Amino acid sequence: MVDLISQYQKIKPAVDEAIGGILETAQFINGPEVKGFQSELEEYLGVKHVIPCANGTDALQISMMALGLKPGDEVITPSFTYIATVEVVALLGLKPVFVEVDDKTFCMDPEKLEEAITDKTKAIVPVHLYGQAVNMEAIMTIADKHGVPVVEDNAQAIGSDYHFSDGRTQKTGTIGAIGCTSFFPSKNLGCYGDGGAICTNDDELAAVMRQIANHGQSKRYYHDRVGVNSRLDSIQAAVLRIKLRELDNYIDARQKVADHYDAFFAQFENIKTPVRDPRSKHVFHQYTMILEGIDRDELHQFLASKEIPSMIYYPVPAHRQEMFKSFNSAATDLPVTDWLTHRVLSLPIHTEMEQEQLDYICNAVAEFMSVNA
Ligand SMILES: *Cc1c(COP(=O)(O)O)cnc(C)c1O
Repeated sequence: MVDLISQYQKIKPAVDEAIGGILETAQFINGPEVKGFQSELEEYLGVKHVIPCANGTDALQISMMALGLKPGDEVITPSFTYIATVEVVALLGLKPVFVEVDDKTFCMDPEKLEEAITDKTKAIVPVHLYGQAVNMEAIMTIADKHGVPVVEDNAQAIGSDYHFSDGRTQKTGTIGAIGCTSFFPSKNLGCYGDGGAICTNDDELAAVMRQIANHGQSKRYYHDRVGVNSRLDSIQAAVLRIKLRELDNYIDARQKVADHYDAFFAQFENIKTPVRDPRSKHVFHQYTMILEGIDRDELHQFLASKEIPSMIYYPVPAHRQEMFKSFNSAATDLPVTDWLTHRVLSLPIHTEMEQEQLDYICNAVAEFMSVNA
């Protein structure tokens, strides 16, 4: 689905030198690379505070801990997402309340959000799925009206812009009270191991989250609150500094792949190519199609027989996972989520895709369609 080896080859001299430098100084933790990356990411995103941490799941957990949520508080999230979004809610003893997504953008449906808000709602966690921004203007309007903080799950959309109707543009992950992201290797900005970050423009929240990420420590060996150990290490930060400089080029490369797929698949009525919401810049973490009247599993297998990977993100929505069997919210009826779950298929998309590979994939899909649709 991605080609991280070819991508590395292009930045190899810079990466090898940076990693070599860290090995020479042995500043593996909290070295200057981490500080450097932090301020460069703050500048890129146009956000006051970036708090690097160990992974995207920790970023979400630390955010919810910092908001002071108490067991039983309700947190609204989509069910159509990667499990991490919802898992931390349950882990902290909070109640996940699943809301429906829009059947075109795959993202949280603002209308359904408003219906799900109760007195107990203490956070809203929209997910910018597959690289497409949620309708943040609508989400923020509803959240502000009810005084509920928004935590953006930006793990799949770093670098995306959101355009407000008044002409303002902001990076995703910097719009809500807190934004969380992941630098897992296959993410749009990925490191060579695990990594994550939290963003906020709120000084107080930033200070609290910094403490939580560091054992609740205010100064060395003085622990004011219960925290966790969640650090981005220097080697990952060094890799991320190099790749952050390329991020906009990486996004362009992904969009070009998507453009090619879109143009080619337009001839097939049964393939719905991903809708691009004009309110945002789609950064194509995934290229996810909706298949109608086509046997998805057969197409998946047909592609596999030609050594073309394709993936179902995600085969089981959160509300149908075993882990939520005991939660009341698991009973929620989410027809759009279920409908999408049975029809989505993602094709390879990455920064190093060659025309020849693209043609091979497109022709394979066409061959399948000529026989099966
Ligand atoms: C990848 C991802 C996460 C978790 O990130 P990790 O770094 O793997 O912990 C959370 N939410 C979404 C939507 C993701 O895609």
